[in-house]
Amino acid sequence: DAVEAARTPFARHLWQASPMTATAAPGGETAAVINPAVLSDTVGQVTWATPETVARAAESARRWQAPASERRAVLNRAADLYEDHFGEIFALLAREAGKTQADAVAELREAVDFLRYYGAHADDSAAIGTFACISPWNFPLAIFTGQIAAALAAGNAVLAKPAEQTPLIAHRAVSLLHQAGVPVSALQLLPGAGDVGTALTSNPNVDGVAFTGSTETAQIIHQTMAEHLAPGAPLIAETGGLNAMIVDSTALPEQAVTAIVESAFQSAGQRCSALRCLYVQEDIADDLLTMLQGAMDALVIGEPWDVSTDVGPVIDAEARADIAAHIAKAQAEGRVLKTYSTPDNGHFIAPTLIRVTGIADLEREVFGPVLHVASFKASQIDAVIDAINATGYGLTFGLQTRIDDRVQHVSERIKAGNVYVNRNQIGAIVGSQPFGGEGLSGTGPKAGGPHYLPRFRSQPAND
Ligand code: ADP
Repeated sequence: DAVEAARTPFARHLWQASPMTATAAPGGETAAVINPAVLSDTVGQVTWATPETVARAAESARRWQAPASERRAVLNRAADLYEDHFGEIFALLAREAGKTQADAVAELREAVDFLRYYGAHADDSAAIGTFACISPWNFPLAIFTGQIAAALAAGNAVLAKPAEQTPLIAHRAVSLLHQAGVPVSALQLLPGAGDVGTALTSNPNVDGVAFTGSTETAQIIHQTMAEHLAPGAPLIAETGGLNAMIVDSTALPEQAVTAIVESAFQSAGQRCSALRCLYVQEDIADDLLTMLQGAMDALVIGEPWDVSTDVGPVIDAEARADIAAHIAKAQAEGRVLKTYSTPDNGHFIAPTLIRVTGIADLEREVFGPVLHVASFKASQIDAVIDAINATGYGLTFGLQTRIDDRVQHVSERIKAGNVYVNRNQIGAIVGSQPFGGEGLSGTGPKAGGPHYLPRFRSQPAND
C-alpha cells in the first residue's frame, strides 16, 4: 500500500481522506470546516478555543528546556514525520485550503525545510518564554510550522493560533510535532478567529508574538501588545504587499509571460508575494499582452486535486465576494481586459486582467488571481520605481530585462525585501534565499534566514 502510494502520490484516493476533527480541549463551540472547491464536502469539525481556554493554556505553558541537541533531534524527527505523512497532508491542504498539487508539494517541502533549518540552528542561549504564533490560511502548513519551529528551536513555549479557515491542517501538524517529542506543555493549539488572537496578544503570560497576516491586523496586535504585555515584548510581523514587475523591451517575451502567469495566478494569487501590478514598456506592450492572454486562455480553473488544474478556489465566501466586487467595479469602468467563467460549486474566481494607469490606482491589496497592467515609456522608468516605492509596501519586486546596468540601477533604487530578476517572483528558499519585506510589509528579519531565530531569544546573537 505504501509502495503504491509512493508511486502514485497524486491518486485521487489520497486526496479524499475521511473527515477529521481538531479539538482544543476543553473548548467552545464546534463548527464544520468546508472544502472551498466543493461546498458539499465537509472536511471535518473544529472545536474553537475560548478566552478561558487561552488563559489556561498561557498559564500552563512551559518553556521547552531540553538541550539544543535534543530540540534539534526532535524537530528533525518532526520533519521526517511530515514527509512520511505526505498523502494525508496533501489531502488536507487540497480539501481545507484549496491547494493544487504543485502548491501542496511546495508547501510540504517548505514546512520540512523550516523544521530542519531552525532545528539545525538551535542553541543553548536563553529563550524568551512563551510565544504566541498567529498564522494565516494561505500557507496553513509552511508558515504555521515555520513560526512554531523557530520559537521552539530557541527554547520557547508556543501557543499556536492558526487561521480560522485552516484549523485541521494545523491540528495534524501539532499532533505530528507532539509525536516527534515536543512536550505538550511547550506546544498548545488554540484554533479560533480574531477574538482568540486578541486573548493571546493581551495575555500577560505571553512574552512575544510571531504574526503573519494583514498589515491592518499587525497594527492592531502592536497596539494590543503595547497596552497589555511587558515593555519590549517582541512582535515579529510578516504582512502584506503590493508587488510590481517591470518588463522592458529587451526582455525575453516567453520567459516574461511564464513568470507573469506564475507570479500572478499560482495559488489563485493568494500569496503575499504575488504579482499585483505589471508594468510593460510601451513599444512591446501590445505583443506581450496578446501573448499573456494566450497563456491565460490555457489555464484550467478547477478542483485542486485534478492534475490538470492550474487555478484552484479562493479560500472562502468572504474572500470571493471581496475579489468579485473589485472585478465588478473595474468591469463597470471598462477596464477588464480578460476574464473567464468558473465552476459554480465552490469559491472560484477566474484569472482576470485589469488595465490601470499605474500602481497608485490600486487602493489596496486584492488577494486573488487579479493582475493589473500598465505601460511605461523608456524615459519613465525612474518615475515607475518611485510610484512603486510610494505605496509604502516593500515585499517582492520582479524585473525582466537583458540590460545588465538596468538590473543594477533598478535593484539599488527599489525598496523591496525580495527582488527577482528574469524569473517568477514567488517563492523563496529556506536557508539560502530568506523571505520578508520592508515598510508596511513587515518588521523583518526575514523568515528562513540567519537573523530570524535570534529574535526568538532573549539575547540576540551577533550573527
Ligand atoms: P488574512 O487577510 O490573511 O485573513 P488576517 O490578518 O485577518 O489576514 O489574519 C491573519 C491571522 O491573524 C489569522 O490567524 C487571524 O485569525 C488573526 N487575527 C485576526 N484578527 C486578529 C486580532 N485582532 N488579534 C490577533 N490576531 C488576529
